[in-house]
Amino acid sequence: MISKTKKFLSDSERIVFDRKHRNTIRFNISKYQVSVEAGKKRFSALEDAKSRAAVVKRYVVEHLSSYLEEFEERATANGIEVLWAEDEDEAIMHIKNVIVSEKIKKVVKSKSMTSEEIAFNEVFGDLGVECVETDLGEFIVQNAGEKPYHILTPAMHKSRGDVAQLFNRLFGTSTEATASEMTSFVKGVLRSQFESAEMGLTGANFLLAREGAIALTENEGNGLFSVSYPRVHVVLAGIEKILPSVEYLDLFWPLLALHGTGQRLTAYNSVISGPANESELNGPQRMVIVLLDNGRTNLYQKKYQSESLACIRCGACLNACPVYKNVGGYTYNAVYSGPIGSVIMPHLKPNDDYSHLSFASSLCGACYDVCPVKINLPELLLRNRRDTVEGAKKYVGSSLLMKSLSAVLKNPRYISHINFKIQSFLFSLFMKKGFGKQRDVPTIDKSSFQSQWKNHQIKH
Ligand code: SF4
Repeated sequence: MISKTKKFLSDSERIVFDRKHRNTIRFNISKYQVSVEAGKKRFSALEDAKSRAAVVKRYVVEHLSSYLEEFEERATANGIEVLWAEDEDEAIMHIKNVIVSEKIKKVVKSKSMTSEEIAFNEVFGDLGVECVETDLGEFIVQNAGEKPYHILTPAMHKSRGDVAQLFNRLFGTSTEATASEMTSFVKGVLRSQFESAEMGLTGANFLLAREGAIALTENEGNGLFSVSYPRVHVVLAGIEKILPSVEYLDLFWPLLALHGTGQRLTAYNSVISGPANESELNGPQRMVIVLLDNGRTNLYQKKYQSESLACIRCGACLNACPVYKNVGGYTYNAVYSGPIGSVIMPHLKPNDDYSHLSFASSLCGACYDVCPVKINLPELLLRNRRDTVEGAKKYVGSSLLMKSLSAVLKNPRYISHINFKIQSFLFSLFMKKGFGKQRDVPTIDKSSFQSQWKNHQIKH
């Protein structure tokens, strides 16, 4: 079987020369950037808001267990069943128990990357449960037989024309349909699905410890429908999603909206604190929250990388990353892609080899600049790289080669004594692989840098 590293390299080599992919991503990210720049102007002190959010999230991560216990106690008092899942198998078992006991045939889902971690659609689809994605982007990729391309914008790699072609093939709509016509069409399709589903599955943007409630934020209203129509509501949330209380939403909701889409606030913002009570006309009779670890405590134990548990999954670092913009979301071959994915995947899934992702970065720092909770992603990528190198097998040959190279590079006079043809040959021998098939290895100049520098100083 081809290793993940080899697959990453061959997929990226192919996709970076795919002009259509590049144009679609650039177009969609450029629209996002215009919105974000406009949105930033609505903040009087954005840096202060980011600093405050960074402090709050780090404090919560440091005191994670006590906040989680508080959340469990309050949520249980609200009539919510709180279940803990160490890994994806345990999460699947809990949800399967609900599905079997409630005789669920159809589940409507709002957008949830956590559900991707447990391959919800595949697992429950195989068990005969109809799983319907109700977020527009997720609906598109599900019907295309694909996975989400981006943590916040699942169909970012598709143009309007691509979606129109897909809908024409599947549903017979016009290939000339506009974005709003297609959105109306999907709304119509989904309405009957909400009405006939017995269970709604959502994630949680935040878990509110003091209230024992979940906070959901979305633009289409599909999350609200997934919660209010079906008789059972299951929430699958990562344990790091905790905030101390509802009061912090005035900081985190606008920050998430700005960095996710450039909006002041997303259109629908809900705080859900339990199943419907007797006086309520809508809402589920049963509400279950599955708190998923799935490698997060591995991250928690890492002195430096634990900082990444502060992530609020806004997706801004993906949109800023020059590597992501060129190789695209699927090349990462991971649930979480881009800079944050490269930091967390090796720890969430230590048995699957994701360590190569930490090397897929130029360390330019654009991701750090845009992060609303100030996660120092380049620093954490370097920490991951060091862990990988320290944990790797040491070969006598390679360490000898590195020592000799280091001695030569520290003293460039050694190099200038070597004939430039031999220099060129050695350079191209070692660098060919790194430059790839599509680029020529640069040739080495006949005169050394030192002599060129000397001539330059004489002339000036
Ligand atoms: S690391 Fe920061 S920028 Fe990236 S998704 Fe998380 S919160 Fe957003």
